[in-house]
Amino acid sequence: MSSRSWFRASCLALLLCLTPEAHSDSERFESLLAEADAVRSSDAGRFSLLLDQLDAISAEATAQQRQHLRFLQTYRLALAGDFQGAIRDLKVLFDQATDVTLRFQAGAFLVNNFAATREFAEGLAYLDQTLALLPQISDQPLRQQSLIGAMVLYNQVGQYDLALHYADLVLAEATSGRTRCKAEFMRLEALFNQDALPADDQQFTERIQHCQAEGEVLVAGFIRGYLARRWDADGRTAEAVSLLQQHLGEVEATRYPRLIGEIHSLLAQYEYKLGHAALAEEHARQAIAQSAGIAFSLPLVLAYKTLYDTAIERGDHAAALEHYRHYAEADKAYLDATKARELAVQLARHETLQKTQTIELLNRQNQVLQLEQEVSKQAATNTQLVLALVLLLLASLAFWAYRIKRVQLALKRLAETDALTGLSNRGHFTDRAGELLEASERKRRVVSLIMFDLDLFKRINDHFGHATGDWVLRQVASVSKSAVTGKDVFARIGGEEFAILRPDCDLDCARELASQLRERIAGIDGRANGASFQVSASFGVSSSADSGYDLDRLLAHADHALYASKHAGRNRVHVYDSSMAELDKVP
Ligand code: GH3
Ligand code: MG
Ligand code: MG
Repeated sequence: MSSRSWFRASCLALLLCLTPEAHSDSERFESLLAEADAVRSSDAGRFSLLLDQLDAISAEATAQQRQHLRFLQTYRLALAGDFQGAIRDLKVLFDQATDVTLRFQAGAFLVNNFAATREFAEGLAYLDQTLALLPQISDQPLRQQSLIGAMVLYNQVGQYDLALHYADLVLAEATSGRTRCKAEFMRLEALFNQDALPADDQQFTERIQHCQAEGEVLVAGFIRGYLARRWDADGRTAEAVSLLQQHLGEVEATRYPRLIGEIHSLLAQYEYKLGHAALAEEHARQAIAQSAGIAFSLPLVLAYKTLYDTAIERGDHAAALEHYRHYAEADKAYLDATKARELAVQLARHETLQKTQTIELLNRQNQVLQLEQEVSKQAATNTQLVLALVLLLLASLAFWAYRIKRVQLALKRLAETDALTGLSNRGHFTDRAGELLEASERKRRVVSLIMFDLDLFKRINDHFGHATGDWVLRQVASVSKSAVTGKDVFARIGGEEFAILRPDCDLDCARELASQLRERIAGIDGRANGASFQVSASFGVSSSADSGYDLDRLLAHADHALYASKHAGRNRVHVYDSSMAELDKVP
């Protein structure tokens, strides 16, 4: 061996010796990563220390390990309340992670962060993309944990069917008792909100016992809250109070503000109902203290409402006014958040439709390209293949045009519809009514407008909750729809305000329709929703014979008549006459 080749051989040996050393560095990194992963939710101090250590030696790590470390760092940001920072880094990681499990983890954690910051549209969009990776994930606890996150979000945005779908998926896999408890709770929450639980309390009591036995005190507490709501709705308010009171200490020991706030808020409402004003006030104050920093939770709204009610009862009008101001603010913030959630669901549906559209286009293009390659392979003279290519191209263009049309129609429908009732929204009403009025004016045909507004609807919201209010709005839409024909333009034009424009219908015919609707609405039975209340609406009617064909004018006149119905005691129909214009001048 020449001295040169000996030198080369020694260098090689040295390198080979060094390699295991480099390997053990990455192993050390790996074991620290695993330890950090294991303590991240149980020991924040140790977790943070480990991250600093890992950061200092990250030069030793492989690219994939560095990505894993970056994931843990976002966890630390979120723990410290910096959700925006975590979201920023997780988005990058979700795009760049090479390992599909890490990508999935990043996506699932992004969804949690978006739920925390109430950015529902973004949350739903990432949820969609994350769930698409699910078939590639074999780590069972990770799959289930993420699916539970998905259910929480779906329940929050009112997509109960999706929450139920994923709950069934988790429950069908062999799971730990704790996971079963959470999935069953999500299932119960979705069914409760859909009013689809059986009349007996078995599901509630079984779930509470099961979760309690698994040490999931928090979940058991939330379920008890739902059971109390059911008892209260059944007139068993005193029992609901004693159930909640009995477990209050346990609830407080969880130190989880959302649960503590919710239970105190329920107790405040129920104690007030039972005539215990002082107790109600005390619970309301506790609920408010737990909701610091949250502008829009329902428990907060109801707690302020109780404080307002008790202050009125004491005759303390200054305090009542102050509480009412808070109540109105919280109520508005809550309704705004509800609207934001509905919008988020619509946006997400939009995006999914657009995505389907793009994927279809890519598929078509791919098929054409493949065929093109075939053709060039088989020599250009093969006329049969050329013909096949042309035919396929034509067929796929036709199919594609059809798909685009369908997607466009679906998007159009989405933009025109009110998400809660499925009726037209105000914008669509204005467009269609404008067309109908123009055509009727041309043909000199009479048109009438019927407007109605639910009576004292705010009271239903206040006493029975917004979910019941929403139920009433859907019932009103449904009973009215059956009296409306395909030629009419029917819409929800405001919160609890509806309008129908009917062609070839004079004032008498419109009055008749309004009376019919009034009766149907008054026939809605709150007991079908587990509560006892009356629904009614006040009506105003105007017609082109007196008001002309201008939509704004017709609306203004119907509104005057509606105001007259409210003024005369509600639950009645008034037809516009010119003396009502005087109402304009009433401040
Ligand atoms: P009036 O008979 O004078 O019309 O009384 P009202 O209580 O019906 O009228 P008000 O304008 O004071 O209250 C209307 C309420 O409708 C206020 C708001 O909380 C509620 N509301 C508006 N949109 C929605 C909705 O989409 N869902 C629910 N649940 N409530 C809504
Ligand atoms: Mg009203
Ligand atoms: Mg109104």
